[in-house]
Amino acid sequence: MKYVDYKRVPIKHFDADKRVRSLNLQTLVPYTLEEVVAESSRCLGCGLCIQGCPARIDIPGYQIAMANGNIEDGLKINFEKLPFVEVCGDVCPHPCEDWCILDDNKGSIATRHIKKYISENTPDYKEVLKVKVQDLGGHPSVAVIGAGPTGLTAAFYLSINGIRVNVYEASGRPGGVMVHGIPPFRLPREAITKEAEHILSYGSRIFYNTRIGKDVQFEELLKENSAVYIATGNWKPTRIKITGEELQGVYHALEFLNKINSGEKIDVGENVAIIGGGFTAYDAARISLRLGAKKVTMMYRRSAIDRPGYPSSNAFEELDEAEEEKVIFDWETSPFEYVGENGKVKILKYWRNQMVDSGRGRRQPVPVKDKEYSLEVDTIIEATGQREDLSFIPGEIMEKLATTTTGDLVVNQYNMTSYPGIFAGGDITNKRKDIISGVGDSGRASMGILLYLKELGKIQRVPKRLTNYEGGPYSTTYYDMEGKEIPDSFPSPTEIKE
Ligand SMILES: Cc1cc2nc3c(=O)[nH]c(=O)nc-3n(C[C@H](O)[C@H](O)[C@H](O)COP(=O)(O)OP(=O)(O)OC[C@H]3O[C@@H](n4cnc5c(N)ncnc54)[C@H](O)[C@@H]3O)c2cc1C
Ligand code: SF4
Repeated sequence: MKYVDYKRVPIKHFDADKRVRSLNLQTLVPYTLEEVVAESSRCLGCGLCIQGCPARIDIPGYQIAMANGNIEDGLKINFEKLPFVEVCGDVCPHPCEDWCILDDNKGSIATRHIKKYISENTPDYKEVLKVKVQDLGGHPSVAVIGAGPTGLTAAFYLSINGIRVNVYEASGRPGGVMVHGIPPFRLPREAITKEAEHILSYGSRIFYNTRIGKDVQFEELLKENSAVYIATGNWKPTRIKITGEELQGVYHALEFLNKINSGEKIDVGENVAIIGGGFTAYDAARISLRLGAKKVTMMYRRSAIDRPGYPSSNAFEELDEAEEEKVIFDWETSPFEYVGENGKVKILKYWRNQMVDSGRGRRQPVPVKDKEYSLEVDTIIEATGQREDLSFIPGEIMEKLATTTTGDLVVNQYNMTSYPGIFAGGDITNKRKDIISGVGDSGRASMGILLYLKELGKIQRVPKRLTNYEGGPYSTTYYDMEGKEIPDSFPSPTEIKE
């Protein structure tokens, strides 16, 4: 094999007919070492991709390491900003690849597949990283609400800096949407367990089945800890609100995926309609096939070129994988009624849409109502989004928290809200709403929390980098979402603006 080749090393797919018969069988055949070395060797080292990565990982750094087959450095460079290397190797939407100078729709460096190789081939992270828990001249406690990727990332970077971290998780498992939403055929459960256990092994305490606002009050956390990090994600379903939504066989995707991922059996019948076009819609469609559906139709209100994420490499890949499995796509459709028989859904009625240029960015779908269409269905799954639920924050504190016009919490470049000591990140604050953005938030928030604790006099010093394992020098700079380097000094809450 040639070691420098400007064509991307292709990734092989497991046979689609076989994989639709299993909830666990992966889609992609991982790269071999030879393929990783060949692929990493293509990198030109320009660094454009770093701007595309919400966590600002030193991507060219780990390409150099892997071009030399140096897995240890590859892992350490990733861990500088990301404790979920394997999870992201499986499911990161890899926005960095869209920034790659070699990108011509299929030529960018396959950063995600290379990550997967690094993590899969490091069974014991501790043995490689040899992290020593730091002493910053104090060990105050910080409460983290939510054990999804965002909360756990903060738990990692804070605990390795000697902070006593208390994580409160409403469910009985760590991982958030990674375990309750994303199906195992895209994200193996062993990857989540391996990375969550590694994170928690540095001393964070985790309280499962503890919902803040019900089992423990938010004010108690504020009193008992020097800072609080809210990482509760988006769990309130957004429904379409049309006639027939209450019929048996109609689900919101989050509820549906949560049931399946908890081992519950659902008989979806032969014909399934999915409403939506994002991550969740694809997962609901592909799970339905694995539950035995014969025909799965994804209905989305916009056209294919207006779908979420288009024209990113991730949007192409997810469509290809679903089409390989024979998911049917029906673009530009608006469901307006579900009709049932004996309480069970039977027919989905819909209009076709016209895409209209509104003059303001994305084209808008407008239903053409003079003709009605119908589809026979046994199950309808609405993948129409979800929102944050901040009802656990008492009114008097909520009043002091600046929010956007749509009710989202406003945070500064260190993810601190307008209430000193309350930080927030992940799906509840960022717009991208993916794992790597939550991880990026938590890197900045961890640095911000340390700076805040130093201001309070609870610790004596703030390290230049959050990790302290040997090796490097690796990139340790923190950037805001516009790509500007963020300073070491901490802005006062009054400087916090939307
Ligand atoms: C079906 C689906 C597929 C997806 N696929 C991908 C993908 O392929 N790639 C990708 O990058 N992103 C994907 N995403 C998005 C990604 O999962 C989220 O962006 C990410 O999980 C957000 O992390 P988070 O930690 O902010 O929130 P979450 O993962 O939602 O975690 C929040 C945690 O907080 C807990 N919690 C909530 N309220 C409370 C409370 N009051 N007290 C205590 N605990 C509480 C919850 O139980 C949960 O464990 C997908 C999302 C869905 C729904
Ligand atoms: S943009 Fe592409 S070529 Fe440039 S450093 Fe990143 S991976 Fe390498």
